[in-house]
This record gives sequence, C-alpha cells and structure tokens, in this order.
Amino acid sequence: MLRIENLHATVDGKEILKGLSLAINAGEVHAIMGPNGAGKSTLGYTLGGRPGYAVTGGTVTFDGQDLLELAPHERAAAGLFLGFQYPVEIPGISNLQFVREALNSQRRARGQAPLSGGEFLKLARAEAAALGMDAEMLKRPVNVGFSGGEKKRNEMVQMGIIGPKLAILDETDSGLDIDALKAVGEGINRIMRAPDKAVLLITHYQRLLDYVRPDFVHVLEAGRITRTGGPELALQLEREGYAPVAA
Ligand code: ADP
Ligand code: MG
Ligand code: MG
Repeated sequence: MLRIENLHATVDGKEILKGLSLAINAGEVHAIMGPNGAGKSTLGYTLGGRPGYAVTGGTVTFDGQDLLELAPHERAAAGLFLGFQYPVEIPGISNLQFVREALNSQRRARGQAPLSGGEFLKLARAEAAALGMDAEMLKRPVNVGFSGGEKKRNEMVQMGIIGPKLAILDETDSGLDIDALKAVGEGINRIMRAPDKAVLLITHYQRLLDYVRPDFVHVLEAGRITRTGGPELALQLEREGYAPVAA
C-alpha cells in the first residue's frame, strides 16, 4: 500500500529525514517510536504534503501512485488520513460542516456522489456514538475549547466518517486518560483493522500498543529507521530506552 524508499526531506532548509525506507502492506499496523526530534512528525507532515516540508530525495508510492506528485487534497482523496499530534482549532466552522465538506470533496474527487445532509448526519452521529462522544459536540466549532482527550476522540470520529485507506496517527495517545486511551484504541481497531486498510501509529509509549497490537515496530532515530521488530521491541524500548543495544 505504501512504499517509502530512501526518503530525504528538509524543513526550512534543514535536512530532517535522511534516507528513510518503510513498506506497509494492506492489513498491517506499523508503529514508529523514537526519541524527541527524531523526525517522526516530519515524516507524517511530509507524507501529507504540508507546505514547507520539501522532499529532496527518494520515492513514495501509495497504492501504486507517486504520492509526492499529488497535492495534499489529492492525497486525502486517494485515501490518506493524517491525525495530528496537536489537532488544530477552527473557530467559526462546526465539526459537522468541516467533516462533511472534507468527505464530500473527497467523494467528488473519486467520482462518487456526495452524501445528502440526512445521510451525513446519520453517519456522523453513529461515529460519535461509537467513540463515546456526545453528539452535541458535532455542532461545536472544530476543537475550540475541547480538552486534549476530546480533541483526540474528535479526530477518531473524523477518521470514522472519512473512512481512509491509510491512517498516519501522530501521538494520538498523548495526553489521554485511561478511558479515552481505551476508546481511541478501540476506535482505531474498529475503523482501520481491515484487510484493505493500514495504520502507521507514531507513539512514544507502549501503552497504546496494548490496545492496537502492531504487526511491526520501528525505531526512527536521526531521520532514519534504525531497528525493526515485532511488539516485543516496543516493550524492550520501554524498559531500556533508545540507547542502542551493545554489540
Ligand atoms: P519528532 O516528532 O520525532 O519529535 P519532529 O519531526 O517534530 O520530531 O522534528 C524533527 C526535527 O526537525 C527537530 O530537530 C525539530 O527541531 C526540527 N524541526 C521541526 N520543524 C522545524 C522547523 N519549522 N524549522 C526548523 N527545524 C524544525
Ligand atoms: Mg516530539
Ligand atoms: Mg512529533
């Protein structure tokens, strides 16, 4: 589904990704862990096409297409969803307006008919209920005045409505209490655990991986993947930190 080869990327002229390679097949969950400043968020932003993140080498294919050729909205329409470490607040636009516009513009780009107001509302309410979010919050401006946990839950509601093929979730677990962590973990499993979908979870902590069991765990250090293993690697990192294992 996603193949990243020897990716180099700069932010404000500074090289942050330095030859990163990673392949994700449909049906798989991959976790990326790594020290602060390693380039984890930069990887997410670069794949999403955020302005200011310049690819200076390497290739990325998504479902056989050259991802780097696509504009950010085309990447979203192709099925890429980015969950942010710090979800943005958008005063003046309700959650419902925001996600309906996102969903329907993606549907139009794929040649699908947009959902009617009634169809969309039904879908949005079902997703909010599944995530344990009060349906009244759908009417509030996007994330404005939401707690950290509510923002992350809201992000999962958005993901459930959009129904992406590949979700890249950047520290979706940071700042969550136990109940919210469980709800978010179950949401990821329910929405994204399917043979035709895949997840890239960026996380500092092993605890989210108790709920969303990864097939592969990677360590990102100084702009490259330096180690890959199974779920046991996350447990080992939690015990021992990121210091390289002595030879
Ligand atoms: P991580 O998510 O792994 O903690 P980031 O991808 O956020 O790391 O950041 C990687 C490196 O890029 C850090 O050293 C950070 O200071 C640097 N960086 C991020 N954004 C900018 C920017 N706008 N200008 C310059 N350096 C940046
Ligand atoms: Mg960080
Ligand atoms: Mg980060």
